[in-house]
Amino acid sequence: MHFLMYIFLKITGKNFVMELITFTEYFLAHKQDFDAILFDIDGTLCYGGTPLPGAKELLELLEKEQFPYVLLTNDSCNSCKQKSAIMQNAGLPVPETKILSAGNALQYWADRNYHGELFFQCGDLGNYAELAGIKVTSDPSKIEQCKGVISVEGNYDWQESMEAVFNHFLAHPEHPYITANPDSYWPSLHHSGMGIGAGAQTRFICAVLKDAGKDIPPIYLGKPYAPIYQCALPFLQNSFPGRKFEDMGRLAMVGDSLASDIYGANRNGLFSCLVLSGITTAELAEKASAERKPRAIFKSV
Ligand SMILES: [Mg+2]
Repeated sequence: MHFLMYIFLKITGKNFVMELITFTEYFLAHKQDFDAILFDIDGTLCYGGTPLPGAKELLELLEKEQFPYVLLTNDSCNSCKQKSAIMQNAGLPVPETKILSAGNALQYWADRNYHGELFFQCGDLGNYAELAGIKVTSDPSKIEQCKGVISVEGNYDWQESMEAVFNHFLAHPEHPYITANPDSYWPSLHHSGMGIGAGAQTRFICAVLKDAGKDIPPIYLGKPYAPIYQCALPFLQNSFPGRKFEDMGRLAMVGDSLASDIYGANRNGLFSCLVLSGITTAELAEKASAERKPRAIFKSV
């Protein structure tokens, strides 16, 4: 066996050690322990437009075995159909019915609270507002009619919108401030560098509001926060009506980010699996705080 296969990693406080193998090898030996697999996309299944080693084969295996899986994305600007097309262009056969976005979590949140109401959007919610049964406007002159604010990705006039949002919450601190994608930054869709994310924009406005004496707690929908994970169970149940999805502990979350995928899985009771094919190195994983320690580490999917 190759020398690298003998690298052992100490990955939990219980001295649990595991060979650095692929997630597919682990899955083949332990699939009876899981009801479904939740995958992160970027850095886990593909990097930019290029599939990562083993991703295509694993997805084909899951489809062939009819083993439940879902791709969890914080991207709440592209619809699941667009996201599926991006995946298919990258050579990964993922139907839109296997993608759950932080934007979909808005549907579960709004259904209970704000059906038919108007919200101010910073960015572009794509088709997720319609799916959630709410109305949105990007026109700052209409913000007074809005029941709250939703911050997402997309190009918009930051100064005009942010000042409108700041003034809105000064007058209505009881209104919800929803942020679909909590990420601070990600590779920009518009240039070769990094873009500033919706999460960072929300935290900036909340910091200014705090200086003005208003403490507005944002409601985050995407990883690592609970709403997107809470949606995963009914989403799987709808996709696989003959099966039962009740136990979060029988869901494996596979991702490359300690702060998003692993922390989110740990705090919501899923079995957290880190792959070292994205933004996290073995050294970073070893230094992670207890709540960000993965239950298992793999070299890739
Ligand atoms: Mg990722």
